[in-house]
Amino acid sequence: MTKKTLKPATIAARAAGAIDQTSGGVVPSIQLSTTYARNSEYALINPDNAYGRDDRDNIRLAETILAKLENAKESLLFPSGMAATAAVFRTIPNKSCVVVQTNIYWGTLKWIQAFCARREIELHELDTPDNSQLKNACENYKPALVLIETPSNPWLKTTDIVFASKCAKSVGALLLVDGTAATPILTKALDLGADIVMQSATKAINGHSDVLAGVLSTNAVDTLVWEEIKTDRHDAGAVLSAFDAWLLVRGMRTLPLRMERMCSNAQKVAEYLEKHPHISRVLYPGLPSHEGYKLASSQMTGGYGCLMSFLVNGSPDDALKVAGNLHLFHRATSLGGVESLVEHRHTIEPHTGIPENLLRISVGIEDASDLISDLNQALNSVFE
Ligand code: PLP
Repeated sequence: MTKKTLKPATIAARAAGAIDQTSGGVVPSIQLSTTYARNSEYALINPDNAYGRDDRDNIRLAETILAKLENAKESLLFPSGMAATAAVFRTIPNKSCVVVQTNIYWGTLKWIQAFCARREIELHELDTPDNSQLKNACENYKPALVLIETPSNPWLKTTDIVFASKCAKSVGALLLVDGTAATPILTKALDLGADIVMQSATKAINGHSDVLAGVLSTNAVDTLVWEEIKTDRHDAGAVLSAFDAWLLVRGMRTLPLRMERMCSNAQKVAEYLEKHPHISRVLYPGLPSHEGYKLASSQMTGGYGCLMSFLVNGSPDDALKVAGNLHLFHRATSLGGVESLVEHRHTIEPHTGIPENLLRISVGIEDASDLISDLNQALNSVFE
């Protein structure tokens, strides 16, 4: 069997076949050294390693696994998802133009708005699931970059990557896809036409809520943009620590398995919530009632992810009480960990117009029936 035919579960479980060369251990060692020795002829003992800014075995191994999972030629790790997204935007020339999906992760938009204002970059925010808006924006504005996030956080909107890629390519724009909620297990954004895919590895890729990391992956390794991103990461030093990279490799070994369980749990939770009389709307692309269901079904494989939002049929206070009465969902931000989380998004992003009765949940790997019972008791305690 050639390595090319290996499935994600096999690649991840074997950590791409990594064996510690010194001990023979099937678990890679953590190499914490920040500097590397030369021999008496002054040659580096290991030519790959000179200084820890990004010459590190643990980083390279994590990137190798990520590139394989993403069907990419190269992946580059960053100390957070935001640092990864920012690295792409920093390559955009001053006074050019970008088209960015609106109602995405608010932190991304906040940073982009400030960055574009500083660099005099024209920013057009639009609802990318509306294909005609995206096509017109590309034709009219000729952006240097298009950013989409699919499914989006916290609205769970699904954007057509193939279509976005066609629009971007027709005007020579770079298509950057934030695939965090899908992960490379559910969507291969590069295969669908993305130039660069960004994942916040803080979320399901690591999956244990103990590493902050981001990753960019591409097949366009010979482009100036990628070269600039790589050089800048090294020279400006936005690198992940060796320990974090080691933890990431450990977490990724179970990524496909965790995704399978989270998707199955989330689907059951979404179907339960949709039938509940005190829920007015469930935003989850795995529900046939969801506007992005058809697209998500063709663009995602193996499930629809762990992230969903729902609108409590009641006052903002009722929504807060439902969150407050949950026992098995931690009231905390983030997503993609093994433990389920709930968040009242309006508390976090009151300025974005998010409804005050919206709760977002990240469904973990617990038993689905326990999660449903917990939601049931929390809803009933408020409404009965
Ligand atoms: N993209 C999405 C969809 C996110 O949800 C987040 C964080 O919540 C980010 C990017 C930023 O990632 P990080 O927190 O690793 O910087």
